[in-house]
Amino acid sequence: MVPIADAHTHTNPVRGLGMEKIAPKFKEAGGWFLAIVGLSPWHYGIEGNLEGYEKTLELTIKECEKARSYGLKVSCLYGFHPADVDKHLGSMKPEEVLDFGMKVMDLVEKAVKEGRLQGVGEVGRQHYKTNPISVVIAEHIMDRAIEISKDYDVVVHLHLEQGGRVSALDVKERVRRIGAKSERVIMHHARGKTLKAAVELGVPATAPGVKGSLEKALELPPNYMVESDHIDDPKRPGIVIYPWEMAKVQLELLNEEKVSEDYLYKLNVENVVRSFSVSPP
Ligand SMILES: [Zn+2]
Repeated sequence: MVPIADAHTHTNPVRGLGMEKIAPKFKEAGGWFLAIVGLSPWHYGIEGNLEGYEKTLELTIKECEKARSYGLKVSCLYGFHPADVDKHLGSMKPEEVLDFGMKVMDLVEKAVKEGRLQGVGEVGRQHYKTNPISVVIAEHIMDRAIEISKDYDVVVHLHLEQGGRVSALDVKERVRRIGAKSERVIMHHARGKTLKAAVELGVPATAPGVKGSLEKALELPPNYMVESDHIDDPKRPGIVIYPWEMAKVQLELLNEEKVSEDYLYKLNVENVVRSFSVSPP
C-alpha cells in the first residue's frame, strides 16, 4: 500500500475533532505524514490580539505533538493569513496592520529558530476582491515568510488567488529574488490551470484531495502533493475533505487503475520528503 501524506490540513481541538480524533483515523487509513497549519485565533475562541496569536501558535504546536504521539510524521506551521489582514483593517490603520502582522511573524520566526515550528503558513494573497492596500500588506508578510524560509531552510505555505501562470510565475520569481530554496515554498490549494502552471514551472504545489479535482490533476506529471485542507469546523463537517477520506479516494483511484502506484508514491512520499525535508516512512 502507498503511504499517504496530507500536505496541508488544520485541526481544532476546541470546537472540532482535534488531532486526538483525526490522527488515529488518518493513520489507520494509511497516513504517514501531516502538514498541520494553525488557524487564526478566533477559530479557537481566542482573541485576535498579539497575545491571542501567541496562544494560538502554542495550541498548534501542542496539536502537532499530539499527532506525533500517534506515530505520524508532522510538519508544524503557523503564519498570518491574508484574510486576517482584512479582518484587522476593520479596526486598525494599514500601517498598524502591517506592524501587527510583522510582530506575529517575529513570534513565528522565534518558534522556527527554536525548532518548535517546521514552517510558516498560511501567508500569501487574498483569493477574493479586496482593497489594494490589503494586498500590499499581505505581500509584505508573504515576503517576510519567504525570508524566514531562506534563513532557516523551512517550508512556507502560500494561500493565493487561482491566477494560473501569473500566480505561479510570481511565486517562482519572488522566491528567486529573496533567495529561498524553490522546493520549500509551496502553493497551497492549486487547481486547474494554476496547478498546471505550477507543475510546468517547477513550483511545488498542493492539490485538493477531492475525487473530481484529483482525477483532473492526474493528467499532469506527478510533480505536486495532495492536501485535505480539512478546516475541522463542526459547522462545516468534512470541508474540504477529511484526511482519512482523502487517503481513501487515492487508494480507490489506484484500485480503479486510474493511477499507478508509482505515481501515487511520487505525490505522497518523494515530493513530500523533498519539500518538507522529512525522512521517508
Ligand atoms: Zn488551509
